[in-house]
Parts: sequence; C-alpha cells; structure tokens
Amino acid sequence: MHPVAMVDYYMEGKKTETWDKVTNSRIALLHPKIRQHTLDFINDAESKLNLKLRVSDGYRSIEEQNKLYDKGRVNSDPIVTKVKGGYSFHNYGLAIDVVEILDNKAIFLDDKHRKIKEIVDIAKSYGFLWGGDWITFKDYPHFEITFGYKASELLKKYNEGELDDEGYVNIS
Ligand SMILES: [Zn+2]
Repeated sequence: MHPVAMVDYYMEGKKTETWDKVTNSRIALLHPKIRQHTLDFINDAESKLNLKLRVSDGYRSIEEQNKLYDKGRVNSDPIVTKVKGGYSFHNYGLAIDVVEILDNKAIFLDDKHRKIKEIVDIAKSYGFLWGGDWITFKDYPHFEITFGYKASELLKKYNEGELDDEGYVNIS
C-alpha cells in the first residue's frame, strides 16, 4: 500500500498489528499486497467474534515446500502436502494457515469448529479463498488471496525475475 493510502487506512481506525507477536512477525513476511487484509482478518475475528486467531504458517520458500513434499515420499512419515515447491500460494506469501489460541493451546480450525462459518465469512470479506471449499483436498486452516493468478503463473513470474524490491512476485 502507498504510504499516503496507509495513513488513510490508519485514520479509519485500522490497527497495524494484532494481539499476537507470533502472528505479527509472520504477517511481516507475507506478500505486501495481503499484509493489511491479514491484519484486518485477525483483528476482526478478535473484535467481532472474540476469537484469538494466530497465523501458524505463512510464507514458505520453494525449498521448504519441496522438503514438506518429500515427507512421506522419501521416508515413512505421513504425507503432509500434495503440492510441490512453486505450486503453493504459501511460496509467494499469498497464503496463511490459521489456528485459534485458547488457554494457551492451539485449536485446529476445521468444519467442526464452533465459529468456522463466521471466521470464513470475515476472511472472504477481505478477498481470501478458503481451503475448506476445495473439492478434492479440504484444507480447512488454509486461506489464500490469488489476485486471479494460478500458482503456475506466479512461478513463471518468479523464474523470470518479475519481483518487487522485497523479492516478492510483482502483482498488478
Ligand atoms: Zn496452507
């Protein structure tokens, strides 16, 4: 966001951090285009639903994604992802996984969570797509903003060096 627009945003009373230091540090590593959306999502969940949500995973490098992909394929661990490096929106800082923190414990978000519908409604109001809507592989804690891009298109930009000053793929 342009600094002037940022001031306007702040003037509207939007908070620039969340209740949670861990979440704040993960938001700082997201693609600049979704940092404010993520802040607003987490803060709305707190103010409107009285839920403390934490971003448990955000940006993940392509190398880290490939290591995750290998789990359960090159050894006997359980398989944790169907997605190779470069094909997850996490690899571009455009996806987050979210848990609820209650009494210092992490509560997994799934379709049984008591407030899942309200949480998803808030996320969608900021343009997030929800992994729980996926048909073949439900990923309930996962939210992403694609800006209309496929991961393969972002990978092409990445490989061709279409990056901003911070090293994130350029999104117009
Ligand atoms: Zn995810």
